[in-house]
Amino acid sequence: MKEKLITMQRATMAAAALAVILASTACRATAASMSNGEIEKAMKAAKQMKPIPPPDVPGAIVLFSGKASELASNWEIVGTDKPAPWKIEGDAMTVAGANIQTRAKFKDCQLHVEFRTPFMPDAHGQGRGNSGIGLQQRYEIQVLDSFGLDSVGKGDCGAVYNVSAPLINMARPPRVWQFYDIFFRAPRFDADGKQTESARVTVLWNGVLVQNNVEIPVGTGIGPSEPTRDPAQIILQDHGTPVQYRNIWIVPVPEHGAERY
Ligand code: MG
Repeated sequence: MKEKLITMQRATMAAAALAVILASTACRATAASMSNGEIEKAMKAAKQMKPIPPPDVPGAIVLFSGKASELASNWEIVGTDKPAPWKIEGDAMTVAGANIQTRAKFKDCQLHVEFRTPFMPDAHGQGRGNSGIGLQQRYEIQVLDSFGLDSVGKGDCGAVYNVSAPLINMARPPRVWQFYDIFFRAPRFDADGKQTESARVTVLWNGVLVQNNVEIPVGTGIGPSEPTRDPAQIILQDHGTPVQYRNIWIVPVPEHGAERY
């Protein structure tokens, strides 16, 4: 009896998830070409998505794994040292009331971030589950509900905001966990403080390469425009929609390895 009940609950959940996906797809003219197979694939990926743990290396930092103490000690409101007002729900935190940033500052790094966009069938374009991840306080990797779009641009999910569109649309449906693995190389400066190289970023979106060593000349609007030689915070953007984040970790890396053979 109990097993039957669980089976029924699962069936109901699957039907609800499919309803979300179909509704989401139906309200995009451009998603008309998505086949049932593609939708099923997205659902399968969604089911398999478990939080991905940080590598066991010295220096890896868990910035958020669901604990209120991590939100308090690792995050603050941008431009202040006030505690981040975002709401913790389960192992996730939900955008609420302010852009937040890490209390620690970083330069070159590998950053893992898991996110999910809300289901907003009546919203369009940039109003649909918008958030973003600001590297070195300047360079935004866009978070948006871009599920089902045939063509993704410089404002869509997976974009370096307004600089570079993702190579492939890897978007999963709203309410489904997704992840970025971001490899950030800060701009370089010579001994006189003159900039010699732009910032660069490589991004895997749900495990697939979507930004391939892309140059970012100046800040994309999430923070200061001018590149800096100094470490700076990682920002999570409040764009007024209840995007959620979970399992955020970072491995800061040096600017280069040893000179010796
Ligand atoms: Mg954004």
